[in-house]
Amino acid sequence: MNDWQEMEHKYYMPTHKRTPLTIVRGQGARVWDENNKEYLDFVAGWAVNSLGHCHPAVVDAVTEQVKILIQASNSFYTIPQLKLAELLCKNSCLDKVFLCNSGAEATEGAVKLARRYGHLHLGGAYEVITATGSFHGRTLAMVSASGQPKFQQPYMPLPSGFANVEYNNIGAIRTAINSQTCAVMLEPVQGEGGVNLPDDNYLKAVQELCRQTGVLFILDEIQTGIGRTGNLFAYQQFGVEPDIMTLAKGLASGIPIGAILAKDRASVFATGEHGSTFGGNPVTCAAGYATLKFIIDHDIAGNAGQMGKRLAAGLKSLKQRFRFVTDVRGLGLLQAMEFDSDIAQPLMLACLDGGLLVNVLKDNAIRFMPPLIISKEEVDRALAILEKALSGIKN
Ligand SMILES: *Cc1c(COP(=O)(O)O)cnc(C)c1O
Repeated sequence: MNDWQEMEHKYYMPTHKRTPLTIVRGQGARVWDENNKEYLDFVAGWAVNSLGHCHPAVVDAVTEQVKILIQASNSFYTIPQLKLAELLCKNSCLDKVFLCNSGAEATEGAVKLARRYGHLHLGGAYEVITATGSFHGRTLAMVSASGQPKFQQPYMPLPSGFANVEYNNIGAIRTAINSQTCAVMLEPVQGEGGVNLPDDNYLKAVQELCRQTGVLFILDEIQTGIGRTGNLFAYQQFGVEPDIMTLAKGLASGIPIGAILAKDRASVFATGEHGSTFGGNPVTCAAGYATLKFIIDHDIAGNAGQMGKRLAAGLKSLKQRFRFVTDVRGLGLLQAMEFDSDIAQPLMLACLDGGLLVNVLKDNAIRFMPPLIISKEEVDRALAILEKALSGIKN
């Protein structure tokens, strides 16, 4: 058998801290390693496999599409792209779509769109206000947008045009908005930054402030969108409507995709001002359409809401039992558990040993983001494995 870890060490840039597990196969909420050991997958390709691994609706749609048409340039019309765009608009508060290939590309495109709006309607305003602890992607500009020094420091100097201000503090945004501001961009719930939930009225207040000052309100729903929080989009839970929204992770169940959605008034790209070779590719869009249609038709967001409550309740009861658990927080199937010391890595390895994949969110916190099709039985099994792992951890 190949030593995959050795091969990675030899040939792959060491950008990722890898868990010592080679995944060779997946089905539903489960994956298998080379030795055919089974794991419950509460990482789901980083909140990507919304319908689980290899869901028949996605497999069938992709299989059919690769036989018909794999790629055509965006100088032509292609049907899967237009069907996905229509489905996204009909099921959200946004009117227009641009499709790309990843989350970072979607947020970067959203910022370009906001800058165009600034040029056209705000006297040349170009600055985008973002929050500390945010994560918007890995391109140079999105590193600058993301309010986390650990991502920024290695790449100084960063592109200008972003102001990172304290999250969940409306006063900080009010102070930062000036005549150069074209948009405020936030995650409804901060994912990578720690599964941080805003206070009830924060997003409403931000929306109100944006309306008053005329700047655009952008929500990055790359992690929270497509059912994860219990609604198709998290903005619905907070009673707001963004002018621009970005999507990626869960949209195509694992086929790489990104999307920028905008209200008509914010949809200001003119012909030739933005583009993508692969964006809106037929195969990708067939996967996106199949995923979104299945999620809508079978109320998978509802399941995510219910299973999220079950998971949260189970995590909270574990918090009662284990005094070193200091916090349980999240929304729907995006949940985190925090500890009073840096035990996330050994705990993750103990879960791995027990047959459960979880994500190390921070040195002292783990994250759960299972497929949205997860069942009660699977949630309960994951909680049992976690309980055993927690029991074994010396604090
Ligand atoms: C993951 C993520 C991104 C970046 O997406 P990539 O596909 O990795 O480029 C941007 N914003 C949020 C909120 C994310 O969770």
